[in-house]
Amino acid sequence: MNRTDFPCLDVKVHNKPLVYFDNAATAQRPQVVIDAINNYYSKTNANVHRGVHSLSGEATDLFEAARISMAKLLNSPSEKNLIFTRGCTEGVNLVAQTFVRSRVQAGDEIIVTEMEHHSNIVPWQLLCEQTGAILKVLPFNDNGELQIELLNDLITDKTQFMAVVHVSNSLGTINPVKQIIKIAHARDVPVLIDGAQAMPHIKVDVQDLDCDFYTVSGHKMYGPTGIGILYGKMEHLEAMPPYHGGGEMISHVTFEKTVYNAVPAKFEAGTPNIAGAIGLGVAADYILKAGIENIHQTDNELLKYATEQLLKVDGLRIIGTAQNKVSVISFTLKGVHPHDLGTILDHYGVAIRTGHHCTMPAIKHFNVPATARASFAFYNTKAEIDYFIESLEKAREMFN
Ligand code: PLP
Repeated sequence: MNRTDFPCLDVKVHNKPLVYFDNAATAQRPQVVIDAINNYYSKTNANVHRGVHSLSGEATDLFEAARISMAKLLNSPSEKNLIFTRGCTEGVNLVAQTFVRSRVQAGDEIIVTEMEHHSNIVPWQLLCEQTGAILKVLPFNDNGELQIELLNDLITDKTQFMAVVHVSNSLGTINPVKQIIKIAHARDVPVLIDGAQAMPHIKVDVQDLDCDFYTVSGHKMYGPTGIGILYGKMEHLEAMPPYHGGGEMISHVTFEKTVYNAVPAKFEAGTPNIAGAIGLGVAADYILKAGIENIHQTDNELLKYATEQLLKVDGLRIIGTAQNKVSVISFTLKGVHPHDLGTILDHYGVAIRTGHHCTMPAIKHFNVPATARASFAFYNTKAEIDYFIESLEKAREMFN
């Protein structure tokens, strides 16, 4: 767990050392992840599960070892509960179009929250268009905390499913998902948790949460892009119809009938992102070795320090002030549009995100068109935060 493990942090932007505060969009990858991808392509490149030759066996072993590492990280009862996906977005779409689609009829209800990423809104809207189901929304308060007390009334006999983000990518809020799942389960409503932003910051234990589904995004947790995990309870995965048809997901095909493969292969049609999966497994091992508690503690220190320093900046408003947060800070600066701020900071080498962060409804709640967002990872430093604040002050002076 060292900053020097991440080679991209050494690059220069506009001749200035990069200060990378866009970790919520995508984190940097440690050298071990980059090496694992390189090694796969240069030493063990072959297709998985299909070959009788040695290289295919080696590639399959690496691919399946990655599933085991992810199972360890998530405390999944078995690696067989884990499906490789392209990321969180695909995980949500898969559950919407298989598990939930086979359960809902016109007039049934699906609940999401006001702070969802678009990838946990739009798949449900598509499903509602297809089935006539209705999307309902659990709101949050002005601090960016879900109004859990409203949930019991929001759930009705028509509610078939609930999908909730574990950690908000725009507000930083850590939601009490265990409590939410308990309330939903008491009413027989299965729950999917979007874990994209939780995995790089906090301990996730799918058995302790008792979630029905949990989606993981590889690139947020120091792994490759275009790879992720969908965890599902085995009874659901076995009962669900397949998502995509093709090779790998079958055990027998005739023109009259196809018998599907066992879980998880049933949901992994076609040649998978083998290098991505292997890289993701190494990223999981990296987190396991570093200890998520250590990562969380460092993140927390950065969050506390950055919040204190930002609040000293004249005209700065933090958007998302929940008690329980990860190191993601959205803010506005009086007199400076977030996009202008992002452009100026880039000239100082500071990479932040500006806009709606794919959470338009959450940003609308605060009556602002956009925010600037600084999101930290454990490899960031207080010196970088100081430099970021100095650059912010310069931007503010420029506009005033
Ligand atoms: N959910 C949240 C909370 C996110 O922050 C993101 C990405 O920004 C996603 C889902 C989408 O994840 P992926 O890029 O893996 O599809």
